Amino acid sequence: MLKFSLYLFISLLFLSQAHARQLALSFDDGLNPTIDPTAPHINQQILAHLKSKNIQSIIFTSYIKIGDNAGKDLIRQWDKHGHIVGNHSAFHENLNKPEILAKDYIKSIRINELVFRDLKNFRRIFRYPYLKEGNNIAKRDQVQHWLKQNHYQHGGVSIDASDWFYNQKYLAYLKAGKTSHIKRLKQAYIDHLLDRAEYYDSLALQTLQRSPQHVLLLHTNAINGQFLGEIVLALESKGWTIINAADAYADSLYQNFSPNIPAGESIIWSIAKSQNIESLRYPAEDAPYERENLLKYDLDDHKE
Ligand SMILES: [Zn+2]
Repeated sequence: MLKFSLYLFISLLFLSQAHARQLALSFDDGLNPTIDPTAPHINQQILAHLKSKNIQSIIFTSYIKIGDNAGKDLIRQWDKHGHIVGNHSAFHENLNKPEILAKDYIKSIRINELVFRDLKNFRRIFRYPYLKEGNNIAKRDQVQHWLKQNHYQHGGVSIDASDWFYNQKYLAYLKAGKTSHIKRLKQAYIDHLLDRAEYYDSLALQTLQRSPQHVLLLHTNAINGQFLGEIVLALESKGWTIINAADAYADSLYQNFSPNIPAGESIIWSIAKSQNIESLRYPAEDAPYERENLLKYDLDDHKE
């Protein structure tokens, strides 16, 4: 009997370890109250969700996304709540576009630092807009070199997702007063996030032979303001532990920059690509991939 109990205990221990998967939440862009009157409310909702779960997150700010001082005041609230403030460049440009030059892109990172560096929790950690790290070797290496020389950490993501797409649908349904659609959309959105977390974790096991301290990509938007509490509960119910952003970024995974051309996407996707793993989509995440999930919830674009 004792032997059996010991066996059971050890099995349960292994089982719980196998499911001890960790994930930090990260938020991109920031909000502009000048063009969106709901911005302060959304900001407050997201911060309240994080506070209620005692989660320290990170916001990657972009000057062009926040507008003026009113937008910076919203970022200041993140700072006051103890969240890390990272750099997402001033002009939010896509480094894979041929017309975007490395020297201008670097200037955009420097300008953004000037705007936000007075915040107590500002850190030199950079997230590439659209997760695009360069369409040719010279550009990719020039920006990577500048970041390293200037002690910038790569604020990469391990779990990429399309929250922005579900947010667009959410805002459209909200405007049209389609309450039952919103209910179904919430489920579709949560399923999407759970599915992406599973996918990138399994890709990590395949490429790194371990489950890293994940970072999930989200944005400061209305759908997250409304449903973040339920998103966290759903993740926890699938065995995910939500960890602080600072702890996640201590994982050596985030010392990697993309070795590919075009460079970018999730860090795990990028490593998988360099290992020639087949069946990788490009781009890794995009709106058209979500059509099937919408249909599952009877949310067909073409019928509406
Ligand atoms: Zn962004």
